[in-house]
Amino acid sequence: MYRIKSTDILKQVMADYFKSMDGQRPIAWCTSVGPAELLRSFGFDVYFPENHGALLGATRTATDFIPEAVKCGFSGHICSYTTSDIGSFLKNKTPLQSHYGLEGVPKPDVLVYNTNQCREVEDWFTWYANYFKCPIVGIQPPRYLDEVTKDEVGLVVKQMKKIIPILEKTSKNKFDIDKFRETIKLSKEATSLWQEVLKTATKRPSPFNFFDGSIHMGPIVVLRGLETAKDYYKILLKELNENIDKGIGFLENEGPRLFWEGMPIWGKLRMMSDLFSQNNTAVVASTYCNSWIFDDFDDKNPFESSALAYTNIFINRSESAKMEMLKSWFEEYKIDGIVYHDTKTCFNNSNAKFGMPQRLTEQTGIPSLVIEGDLCDLRFFSEGQSTTKIETFIEQIEDMKVLS
Ligand code: SF4
Repeated sequence: MYRIKSTDILKQVMADYFKSMDGQRPIAWCTSVGPAELLRSFGFDVYFPENHGALLGATRTATDFIPEAVKCGFSGHICSYTTSDIGSFLKNKTPLQSHYGLEGVPKPDVLVYNTNQCREVEDWFTWYANYFKCPIVGIQPPRYLDEVTKDEVGLVVKQMKKIIPILEKTSKNKFDIDKFRETIKLSKEATSLWQEVLKTATKRPSPFNFFDGSIHMGPIVVLRGLETAKDYYKILLKELNENIDKGIGFLENEGPRLFWEGMPIWGKLRMMSDLFSQNNTAVVASTYCNSWIFDDFDDKNPFESSALAYTNIFINRSESAKMEMLKSWFEEYKIDGIVYHDTKTCFNNSNAKFGMPQRLTEQTGIPSLVIEGDLCDLRFFSEGQSTTKIETFIEQIEDMKVLS
């Protein structure tokens, strides 16, 4: 039975992170691809509601909470991170209580969003800003870009600089460019290590898959800008490289290699992982896990480089830019097929709604499958139907390989 031993350390790292937000330092809430490094440079503890949404999905408690948000006027068809998180807050029930002994989610001194991923985060954070009567600031980069030019970067830099006075006021600390350089440097080191972790899956047999990545990405999401993230990925990378040297992969007989496009189905991560493994199929790469690779960070130009890094991300790009990125991942990870998770409540992170799967298959010859589901709301997911579709897809890929 393949097991990544570093998972034990990961659990401790995540527990320490949650327990560290004890109100001794100011707390900023931040979106998952928001300017965490800038916030860390002010000495904020940084809390990520999306990470909490994923926790609600993974613990399968989200559907208990979504109706609470619906009662407040949120549609049950919008982002189920948003609705489950708000519902959980209204019921004052969270896995943070049972898992880490917290009283509830940490209270914010300021909320900071970046709409590089979606506009939903602005609405979500605004609800909390009204509730807590605390300041909210945001960055709104241009979206759907083929290319990110100096014009867009300049605009985002201006937006980042504009929020500094609020961050100074709420943190009670003056902005310090050297501290910002330091957090960018730490983040760059962590993100480079995370990239190396993901790239271990280019090897055959692969020691790491998308489902592992969805768990081990915790530190790169919530601990960017701190030593802890860097230290953790060094440990994980060492273990994976040792497995590569010994020829140990997570599958004994690795068959087709697939790419996962879209959000994880958090409450069915284990079921999905087992399903692919039982079919000797390795899901070796994903757009989701690659979303936290920020190659452009440069501590010599902290504003420009982080503006570029956060505007450049896959979710913020045009379809043609996304297709080029996918083509390059297909080659790098030696992909035989792609599974699109058409996520019911996340329009932004679903790329199967406007014919991209067909266009990409025509251009690359890589077969595709679309499955319907959701990140948190399991009422939109049919296990039986998805299993049949996936098993048939894998058989087709295997047949194609025999015939070629
Ligand atoms: S990208 Fe999707 S899942 Fe993430 S916050 Fe936005 S709508 Fe929700």
